[in-house]
Amino acid sequence: MVVAVNPRAFLPMLLVGLAYYAGAWLSVHYTITPEGIAILWLPNAILLPAFLLLPYRQWPLLALAALVAEIAADTPSFPLWAAFAFGLVNLFEVSLAAILIRQRVRTPFGFERLRHGAYFLLFGPLLASALAALAGAGVYLLLGRADTPYLTLWLLWWFGDALGLLLLTPFIVEAWRWLERGMPRLRWPVMLECLLLWSVVLALGLTVFEQGDASGMDFFFRLVWLVPLGILAALRLGILGATATVMLIAVLAVWQLVAGIHPYATSMPQQAVWLTQEYLAVIALVSVGLAILLREIADQRESLKENERTLAAYNEVLEERVHTRTLALEEANRSLRHANEQLATMAATDELTGIANRRHLRSEAQRELTRLGQDGETASAIMVDLDRFKAINDQYGHEAGDQVLCSILEPMRQCLRPRDLVGRMGGEEFLILLTGVDQAAAAGIAERIRAAIEVLEIDYDGRHIPVTASFGIAQWDGQCGLDELVRRADEALYRAKGAGRNRVECHGA
Ligand code: GH3
Ligand code: MG
Ligand code: MG
Repeated sequence: MVVAVNPRAFLPMLLVGLAYYAGAWLSVHYTITPEGIAILWLPNAILLPAFLLLPYRQWPLLALAALVAEIAADTPSFPLWAAFAFGLVNLFEVSLAAILIRQRVRTPFGFERLRHGAYFLLFGPLLASALAALAGAGVYLLLGRADTPYLTLWLLWWFGDALGLLLLTPFIVEAWRWLERGMPRLRWPVMLECLLLWSVVLALGLTVFEQGDASGMDFFFRLVWLVPLGILAALRLGILGATATVMLIAVLAVWQLVAGIHPYATSMPQQAVWLTQEYLAVIALVSVGLAILLREIADQRESLKENERTLAAYNEVLEERVHTRTLALEEANRSLRHANEQLATMAATDELTGIANRRHLRSEAQRELTRLGQDGETASAIMVDLDRFKAINDQYGHEAGDQVLCSILEPMRQCLRPRDLVGRMGGEEFLILLTGVDQAAAAGIAERIRAAIEVLEIDYDGRHIPVTASFGIAQWDGQCGLDELVRRADEALYRAKGAGRNRVECHGA
C-alpha cells in the first residue's frame, strides 16, 4: 500500500515536535521548585493551538510528533512505559479540549470572541486538564516513587497543566493569527509603548516577587501592583499584547519561585506554588479576559457602524426613489389638473363661438338670479335670433353661416358689460342676461346691438353677407324661474319675427 503524504504536512509536525520537546525540557528544568514540585506544564499549551488551528487530518502526524517528543524528554528521568503513558495522557487532554472547543465554536477558533475564550477556559484548563490529571496522577502512583497522596498528585498535575494552557495557549494562538494577518499594528509608537510597559513590568516584577520582609518599601511593592499593568496591557496593546505581558509576569514569578524566592508569608513550598499558580491564573483571566472583552466591543461597534452605513446608503437610495416618484406624481398631477381644466372648459364652452354653451349659461344664469333675488335686484333677459339664417346657409354655404355666427359676437360684446352673461342657446339663438337692468334699459341695449349687427361688414369668399337679428326682451319679476323668464323673452322674440324681423320686442308691451 502506498500512502501519499504531502511533504508540507511534515513542517508543522516537525515544528510542533520540537516546540513540544522544548516546552517539556523548559518545564522539567525551569519550572520545578528545589523541592521538586512542578509549577506549570508547557507542552500541552503548545500542542493545543496546533490542534485548534490546523485541520483534523494533520492531527495524527502532530500527535506522533508530540508522543516522540514526550518520550525523548521524559526517558532520562522515567522508564519508557511511563514516558509513553504520560504522552498518551497529554494527547488525551489536548485532543479532548480541542474537539470540544471546535465543536462548540464551529467557526475558525480565535481569542477575539468572548465565547471562544469561555469555551477554551471551560474545556481546556477546567475540564480536560482535570480529567487528564486523574490518569496522570495514576501513572505517578504506578511508578511507586512518591509518597504523595493520589489527590495531591491529581491537583498538582491539574494545576500545572491548567496554568500552562491559560498562560501560553492564548499567546500562541494570537501570535499565530497575528503572523497570518501579516503582523499588523507593528508601528514604532506601539513598539515603544510595549517596550515601556514591559520595562515597568520587569522592574516591578523583579521587586514584587522577591522575598518580602513586610517592612518599608517591600511592604509597599506588593503583587497587586502588577494587576493594573496587566489591565493597561489589555487597554493599550490588545489581546496579543496582554497575553505577552501576562507571560512576562509568569516568567518572572516562576523564575523567582524556582530559585526558592517568593513573597508569600508561608514556609510551605507547596503552598507557595499554589499561591503563585492562583496569582498567575487571576492576572491572566483579568488581563486577557479584559482584552478579549474590549476587542468584542470594538468589533461590535464596528459592525454597528457598518450597519449604520449600509442603512444610511439604503436610506439615501430610498429617499432618491421617493423624490423621483414624488416629482413624477407632481407632474402627473399637474397634467391631470390641466386636463381637468381643459375638460371643464370644453364642457362649458360652445365649440364654434368659444362663448358659454347652453348648459353653462343656464347654470350661471340660475346662480345669478338667486344672488339677485337675495340682493333684491332686477335683471332682464334678451333672446337674440338671426333672421333667415337658413337662407344664408343655403345661399353662401354652411361655413359662411359659421362665420356669420362668430361675427355677431363682437358687436354684442361692445354693448355689454363684463358682468353680463351671454351664451349660445343652440343654432343661431343667443341669450343675454343683463343684471340690475330693467326692461326699458335692456331694450335700449338690444337696440344698440341690433343696429351694430345690421351694419356689420361680413365678407365671405369675396361676397358681402348682409345679416340682421331679432330680439325678444323680458324683465325678471324677481319671482319666476329661468325657464319662465326665457319663455317670456322667447315670446317677445316670436312677436319680433312676426312683426317683420330685425327689431326689438318687449314682453308684455
Ligand atoms: P327665422 O328668421 O325665422 O329665424 O328663419 P331662420 O332661417 O333663421 O330659422 P330656421 O330655424 O328655419 O333656420 C335655422 C337654421 O340655422 C337652420 C340650420 O341649418 C342653421 N344652423 C343651426 N346651427 C348652425 C350652425 O352651427 N352653423 C350653421 N352654419 N348653421 C346652423
Ligand atoms: Mg331660430
Ligand atoms: Mg333664425
